[in-house]
Amino acid sequence: MEVLMSTPNQRDLVIIGGGPAGYSAALYAARASLDTLVIEQGMPGGQIATSDMIDNYPGIEQCSGAELGQKMKAHAESAGAQSTYGSVQSLIRHESGFTITTDMDSIEAKSVIVATGATPRPGNFSGEETYRGRGVSYCATCDGMFYRGKHVFIIGGGNSAVEEALYLSNLADQVEIIVRRDVFRAPRGMVDRLSAKPNISIRYQTSIIEVAGSTFINTITFRDNATGKTHVESYDEGSVGVFVAVGHDPATNLVAGLAELGPDGGVLTDEHMGTTTPGLYCAGDMRSKSLRQVVTAAADGAIAATAAYHYIESLTA
Ligand SMILES: Cc1cc2nc3c(=O)[nH]c(=O)nc-3n(C[C@H](O)[C@H](O)[C@H](O)COP(=O)(O)OP(=O)(O)OC[C@H]3O[C@@H](n4cnc5c(N)ncnc54)[C@H](O)[C@@H]3O)c2cc1C
Repeated sequence: MEVLMSTPNQRDLVIIGGGPAGYSAALYAARASLDTLVIEQGMPGGQIATSDMIDNYPGIEQCSGAELGQKMKAHAESAGAQSTYGSVQSLIRHESGFTITTDMDSIEAKSVIVATGATPRPGNFSGEETYRGRGVSYCATCDGMFYRGKHVFIIGGGNSAVEEALYLSNLADQVEIIVRRDVFRAPRGMVDRLSAKPNISIRYQTSIIEVAGSTFINTITFRDNATGKTHVESYDEGSVGVFVAVGHDPATNLVAGLAELGPDGGVLTDEHMGTTTPGLYCAGDMRSKSLRQVVTAAADGAIAATAAYHYIESLTA
């Protein structure tokens, strides 16, 4: 493929988001000789940059999330990708490609990969931010191992709460699901699967309103939503965890009108990460998907970059 000498504001490929999906895409695109720019508004690594430890990325037994993010960025840049800091405000498709407007600049690209991630919805209880990663988690697949033999609470009444409870029941001694209302939102068939697990119990019409402790959580305050009464339960420090499983908010604003969304609010793509707009690909947690992890985001990024390469090549064929 011909490599065009682009000006700084004209690129073959712009990748929006410097998380695992974005930097994996950048690595594959740069290795395919695409003139590639990653635009990131915060820390490289995205969500994992906030995690003390990643221990389920194949080949890397243990690593801090920030370090893994930096390594992904450095790897992509060593292959020739460039990065810039900026918050993308809009993405417009026109006849000859895309215009990407950041808070500082405007860039033209032949193809765009949007990899803006997702945010786990908060549980909205006191102490949630303070004990995030120290007793409060948003992902059983990520953190379940740390609760082997312990007591865990799962907040939520939908599919993800049931899935997380089933997963954690194979690790934790005791699993309690905290359901705000008097019924689950998850379908009956799914909820019935819980009864096969003797270490899972359910507290209906209950909310967790506060967690507290020292280094880790040691007290949890519950509210009975029928009576409004509250009570506090105490645990040995480090023996208890609270998993918030109330869904994710995929960051899809930039692709409004350019791509279709699925029932979970994520972008629907084809198997090449393509959207309904030619030349526009979406990768990682922002997609409609069942497993939001580093390894799946990285895989999406690699597929999207390969598809973008073939798309750009087809423009000059
Ligand atoms: C606390 C925590 C712990 C986790 N632990 C694990 C774990 O142990 N193992 C595991 O596999 N997964 C873990 N995950 C999940 C994992 O981090 C995600 O699945 C993964 O980061 C998704 O990658 P992504 O690139 O799709 O999105 P993200 O990581 O969300 O990256 C998206 C990036 O896009 C940027 N962005 C968004 N909008 C714009 C914009 N308009 N302009 C410019 N940049 C923008 C964001 O700043 C962000 O950096 C964890 C998640 C959290 C929150």
